Amino acid sequence: MSKYLVSVGMEIHAELSTLSKMFCRCPVAFGGEPNTRVCPVCCGLPGALPVPNQLAIEMVLRTALALNCKIAMHSIFHRKNYFYPDLPKGYQISQYGDTNPLGYDGYLEIPLPDGGSKRIKIRRVHLEEDTGKLMHLPGGGSGVDYNRSGVPLMEIVTEFPPDIENPEEAKEYLSQLRNILLYLGVCDGKMEEGSLRCEPNISIRPEGATTYGTKSELKNLNSFRAVQLGVEFETRRMADLLDSGSAVLQETRGWNESRNESFGMRVKEAENDYRYFPDPDLVPMEFEEAAIERLRADLPELPLAKSRRYKEDFGLSDQDAALLVADRAWAEYFEACVAQGGAPKPICNWMNSDFAAELNKEGLAARDSRITPSHLVDLTRLIQDGVISGKIGKEVFSEAFGTGKLPSAIVEERGLTQISDKGAIENAVKAAIAANPSLVQKYKDGQVSVAGFFVGQVMKATGGRANPSVVQQLVKEELER
Ligand code: ZN
Ligand code: MN
Repeated sequence: MSKYLVSVGMEIHAELSTLSKMFCRCPVAFGGEPNTRVCPVCCGLPGALPVPNQLAIEMVLRTALALNCKIAMHSIFHRKNYFYPDLPKGYQISQYGDTNPLGYDGYLEIPLPDGGSKRIKIRRVHLEEDTGKLMHLPGGGSGVDYNRSGVPLMEIVTEFPPDIENPEEAKEYLSQLRNILLYLGVCDGKMEEGSLRCEPNISIRPEGATTYGTKSELKNLNSFRAVQLGVEFETRRMADLLDSGSAVLQETRGWNESRNESFGMRVKEAENDYRYFPDPDLVPMEFEEAAIERLRADLPELPLAKSRRYKEDFGLSDQDAALLVADRAWAEYFEACVAQGGAPKPICNWMNSDFAAELNKEGLAARDSRITPSHLVDLTRLIQDGVISGKIGKEVFSEAFGTGKLPSAIVEERGLTQISDKGAIENAVKAAIAANPSLVQKYKDGQVSVAGFFVGQVMKATGGRANPSVVQQLVKEELER
C-alpha cells in the first residue's frame, strides 16, 4: 500500500438540554408516544409563528466562547429549503454564511499521546432546529414522529483544510468536545439516543499531493468506538481503491455496527441548492459586548485546563488527571476532598481505584453513594498517620462504602489500629520462626526469599494489623540471629 495522508473534517450536531423546543413551547424529551409533543409551530402548520428560545441562544454562545470562537454580535436565522417528510415546513431554520453563525473561527485543543497538544480549528458553531424522525411501522409502511421536530440543535463544524489527521485524533476531538458540552451543561451527550451525532468526512491523498482527495461522509455512528473504527475503515477502503487504480466517489455512507464496515447510501452528483434566505418571521439577534463578556466570565473551568492544573499543582500523572476530569462531578468531588485538607495524590488514588470500582459495581454516581469527601479525607489521613496500613484501609473503605460509617469510627470499633509496637510483633515473629525450623534452615542456606513467608505468617497472626515495615525488619533480624 502506498503512503497516504488522511484528512478528517467533523460535523457535530448536539441537541441542547433546554426544557422546551427552539421556536415553540413543546417540551423536549427522548422517546415517548409518537407525536405527543407537537403543536402548530413544530408541525409547520400555515400561519404559525416561531418565537426563539432565549436559553438555547445563550447555550450556543457559551459553547462558542468555550471553543475560542469569535461571536457574531449581529446574527440572523435563515431558511434552509429542502423537501423531505421529516421537515414539515419544507425548510429548516438554520444559520447561513461565514460570519453569521453565533460563533466562528474558533479552535478546540486536544491532547496528543506524546503529552503535547494540538489545536483543531473550528469554522462555525450555529443554532438550528432538529427534524422529525421517519419510522417503519410494524404492519408495513412508514410514519413520521414530530416529537423531535423543532428541538434546538447546535451544529459545530471544523475548518477546512482539516487539522485532524488520523482516526485517534478524530475520536479524541469528539471525546473532548463531548466533555466540554457536558461541563457547560448544554447537551446530555448521549450518542446512543442521538442527542449527540457525529458525521465525519474523510479523504486521503498521496504523500506530497497538493490537492485534497474526494471525501466520503459517514452517518449513523453511535459511539466513540464507531467513529474511530469508521474513520479507520474509510481510509483503508479508499487506499485500496487508489492502489488498484480506481477512483473514490464522493458519497454519503452508512455504518454497519455489527459488521464494522461502511456501506454506500447515496452518491453526491451536485451540491444541493438549499436556496438559503433570511427568515422573515424572526427578528435579527443583537448582542452587547458586556453581556458576552459576562457569559465568558461565567464559563466553568474546562477539562483540559483543569487537568493541567491538577498536574502542575498536585503532581498528578497525565492518566490520573485525565480520569478525574473525564466527568465534571467526579472532578468536583476530588476538589471537595482537597478543599477539606485531603492530600491530593492519595485522594486521587482512592478515587480512581477502590472508589471507582465500588461505584461501577453498584452502578452509582459518587454523590449517590454513602462515601462523602469527609470519608476519603478521614481514610487517607489514617493511612498517612500510620494508624492503619493500606491493606486494612481497603477493608475499612469497603465497610464505609456499605454502611456510611466514618473510617476512623470503623477502625475504633473493630480495633484495627496498626500495631507498631515492637514487643507485640516480636512475639509473633518468634512464634512463626519456632514453628518452621526447616524454612529457617533454607534461609541460612542462602534462600533469602523465604523471609516473605514469615512476614506473611506474622501479618496473618496479627490480623493484618502489624506495621509491615516493622515486621520485615524484625523477621530479618530474627532469621539472622
Ligand atoms: Zn411545538
Ligand atoms: Mn445541520
